[in-house]
Amino acid sequence: VAKGAGKGQWRRYQAALHNQVLDRLELRAELDQAIVDRSFVLQYQPIVDLRTGAASGLEALVRWQHPTRGLLAPGRFIDVAEESGQIVPIGDWVIEQALADAAQWRGSGEDGPYVSINVSARQFSDPGFVDRALQRLAAAALPADRLVLEITETLLLRDDDQTRQDLARLRQAGIRVAIDDFGTGYSSLSYLRKVPADVLKIEKSFIDAVSTQPQQRALVEGILRLAHTLGLTVVAEGIEEEADRAALVAAGCRYGQGYLFCRPMNNPDVLTWLADAQVAA
Ligand code: C2E
Ligand code: MG
Ligand code: MG
Ligand code: MG
Repeated sequence: VAKGAGKGQWRRYQAALHNQVLDRLELRAELDQAIVDRSFVLQYQPIVDLRTGAASGLEALVRWQHPTRGLLAPGRFIDVAEESGQIVPIGDWVIEQALADAAQWRGSGEDGPYVSINVSARQFSDPGFVDRALQRLAAAALPADRLVLEITETLLLRDDDQTRQDLARLRQAGIRVAIDDFGTGYSSLSYLRKVPADVLKIEKSFIDAVSTQPQQRALVEGILRLAHTLGLTVVAEGIEEEADRAALVAAGCRYGQGYLFCRPMNNPDVLTWLADAQVAA
């Protein structure tokens, strides 16, 4: 609050803060119930080959089926769940459900698309996370290369022994690790050199102006060159315009996702969508 602001303004500020705290407490209590009732659903957004539109993988995106407020996007509850630790049981459910769905996509014997699952830092640091993930993967009878775990730069930047070991164990098992929202954190391009990851997902804000702003295009081209030199697969996020898709292809970006191709959809629709789309390598 600005210095010299009136008493009334201060009171309104306090009241707003008070309401925010109450909202979060209420949300937390409701989330407890949701975890017991398993009131979450997963939607899936295809990750496609930008040249052909063929399906490569699908990203699992969690939603909360709230009893009165409808279907809530993760932006409405993930923060609170991370703060409270509730993200751990929610995330366990996400992994179990997504693996079951991915096993279903494979059909009879053939290699289906991979499933890409978001894991928050809090979840990843939970003791036993890696063990549980490996157990669930074995139980789902899904090949390890059909699973990608998306983590954020912030987690990688911690650069502590435990994180390094956990990432190494996952990758030794054949699970791929993706850096989500690349470009939003504080990491420099040079840090990519020592990053224990397989996939780099370039954040939407970098993608939006790729076809119209030469500087932006040069930046994305730089990221692509470096990533490819390091053997990383690159996925462009949030592609909405055909011109951006074309510019990305011209810049050598092979994979992407976004409303241009497909919005997140419910699992039953994935099977229909896959039946029409061809599956890419
Ligand atoms: P994210 O992992 O970066 O996922 C991409 C977000 O962009 C998704 O929002 C997706 O629906 C949206 N998106 C995809 N294509 C487009 C597009 O062309 N235009 C626009 N405007 N948006 C697009 P969503 O589903 O609301 O998820 C938001 C974030 O919540 C995710 O960002 C991820 O960080 C987090 N999240 C989602 N599911 C989970 C989960 O199961 N566990 C954890 N820990 N976090 C999750
Ligand atoms: Mg993601
Ligand atoms: Mg992202
Ligand atoms: Mg994100």
